[in-house]
Amino acid sequence: MATERTLSIIKPDATNRNLTGKINAKFEDAGLRIVAQKRIKLSMEQAGKFYEVHKERPFYGELCEFMASAPVVVQVLEGDNAIAKNREVMGATNPANAEPGTIRKEFALSVGENSVHGSDAPETAAQEIAFFFSGLELVG
Ligand code: GDP
Repeated sequence: MATERTLSIIKPDATNRNLTGKINAKFEDAGLRIVAQKRIKLSMEQAGKFYEVHKERPFYGELCEFMASAPVVVQVLEGDNAIAKNREVMGATNPANAEPGTIRKEFALSVGENSVHGSDAPETAAQEIAFFFSGLELVG
């Protein structure tokens, strides 16, 4: 199995409810290592740039406002098949459809306020990691 890195974001609904530690425990229990992590507050502009791929979607404005509404924790997770593994641990976008035991099933409030972001492919993982972290911040 290939060791991969993926970008994860603990979203404002979760940082507001003090869930960072509980969510990190889910990653670690699944064998994902948190190899970089920082808590930051995104501007509307930064949120808009990060989610640019969704800019034609009807929820784009709402999504950017939400992501800029409170601090987020951005992190790099590493492990075997980390991209798919993280998507599994996160659960479906809409918590109503998420499997039991997943982060979104246990913690998400709605399809928008769904507690975590995770990269969906190797190319997006590389881009998203570089969006938030410099090489010097990735110590393994
Ligand atoms: P993800 O990869 O599972 O995060 O899902 P997507 O890439 O489809 O969507 C990105 C993010 O946009 C989701 O995690 C949600 O926060 C938000 N989102 C997706 N669909 C909706 C929606 O119908 N309404 C709202 N308000 N937000 C949505």
